Amino acid sequence: MASEAELKQYLEVWEKELQEVMEKMGELSFKKYKEKKLDPELVQLEKRRMELLLNTELEGMVKYWLPLVSDKALQRKLEVLSDTILASKVMSHGEVSTLVRELDSMIVGYDYVVKGQLVDLGTVRNILKNEPDREVRKEAWLTSKNLSLQMEEKLLELVHLRNSLARDQGYANYADMSLALQGLQTEQVKEWLLDLTLKTNDLYQDLLTSGAKEQGLDSVQPWDVQYLLDSSGRSDSVFSRDKLLLALDQWCKQHGVDLRELGISVHFMDIPYNGLCMSIKRDDIRILGNPTNGYGYYKTIFHELGHSLHSAYNEQDSPVLRREAGVFSEGMAELFGYIMHEGKWLEELGLNSEGYEALQKSLLGSWFHYLRQRTAYALFEYSLYANPAQDLNQLMAKSEQDILGVAYDETARWAANAWYVSFPVYWQNYVIADFIASQVHGYLKNEFGGFTGYPEVLSYLREKLLRPGASIDWQVKIKDATGRPLSADDLISDILNLKG
Ligand SMILES: [Zn+2]
Repeated sequence: MASEAELKQYLEVWEKELQEVMEKMGELSFKKYKEKKLDPELVQLEKRRMELLLNTELEGMVKYWLPLVSDKALQRKLEVLSDTILASKVMSHGEVSTLVRELDSMIVGYDYVVKGQLVDLGTVRNILKNEPDREVRKEAWLTSKNLSLQMEEKLLELVHLRNSLARDQGYANYADMSLALQGLQTEQVKEWLLDLTLKTNDLYQDLLTSGAKEQGLDSVQPWDVQYLLDSSGRSDSVFSRDKLLLALDQWCKQHGVDLRELGISVHFMDIPYNGLCMSIKRDDIRILGNPTNGYGYYKTIFHELGHSLHSAYNEQDSPVLRREAGVFSEGMAELFGYIMHEGKWLEELGLNSEGYEALQKSLLGSWFHYLRQRTAYALFEYSLYANPAQDLNQLMAKSEQDILGVAYDETARWAANAWYVSFPVYWQNYVIADFIASQVHGYLKNEFGGFTGYPEVLSYLREKLLRPGASIDWQVKIKDATGRPLSADDLISDILNLKG
């Protein structure tokens, strides 16, 4: 390859094939959810996608040209591509995939037992959240112990393997590498998470203590915490399943969003997630959902609306530059999920001031639990990769004691965590997504008056955050859109304000 022009052309041809493969994969994945069976072609396409990414000719070319090119856009593309190749090398390493598959099948095949009955994981979660009988909650909490013990050894093997692959690439450990590929540093993330924890701690401890007192508990055990903070899913008639799509349409109409024109469609079906957004082509974006009654699902549908608009308004043609860091994508989704926190919008949905107050109160506890459980898992995971030889049962006990405020308990549980297997170093993304959503909403409130009811806000967000895709670093976009670098500050004040 003699010139930048030739390089551009080479990449164009390569990207075109990548795009075709990914479009076909999207179509077949949708079919997989709908028809509940795996098309063998999907496996072939995934193989082809990896061949395209892990092609040594391409890798050599990216390495060679990265320091040489003068075209800024091309340089950015090579930077992003170089990270994508590195990530694929580690994540799709043959032995990694084998271990992930083995661990995954242990999780899927595991028998959870409560009160002598075989139950699914959804039931276990529901018990921890809503069951008033403490002994039953304890049993439900303990049912994952054997799974953790079964998985421990293999999961540690996976941790060591990931670490050694990360070290081959010049990183101290796998957590550092994963965060770096999202443009984050481990120390910075830890600082953020601890900042959020410490500055909201008085309120958190009050909530926990008063909850325990109300229930007559003399201590908060690990099987009590979610029940105390996150019980009683609201089933207010305002948030009924059959009015969900009407609400979505109403909001979109008011803000000049034509879902049909953008190629965004909503499909209700039985999927293993709350909601899912599949971006098949630029003008074919499908939201999949399995809605229930209640506030939570309204939040989910607006979250998925965020994913779909992020995709629809992303003006990059290049599949390399269309794809953004997971943490930023979640942040853009939450930015729309936060619409369900806006008093003005809730009023339009028919919530009266009494209902609004009750909602705020119940939100505080469940939000705290959501953020702190994720924080505890994330901090545990960084320490796990930094030193896999330590006593991990003690580490998890300590992490949950410090962050969740529960009694110290060394019962084995750390390894029974599907994210540690299939979505490593992902837990912090949920928390940071809320930093992003809070900071952007805070800015919108100050500069425009809010989000709901101000259609011009959407053009602002499009221009600053959604349109550029990965052609601009995501943290630079946040700073540009909100006037300051990302921090935990706005989320901290949003939480403290909920206290009312
Ligand atoms: Zn999401």
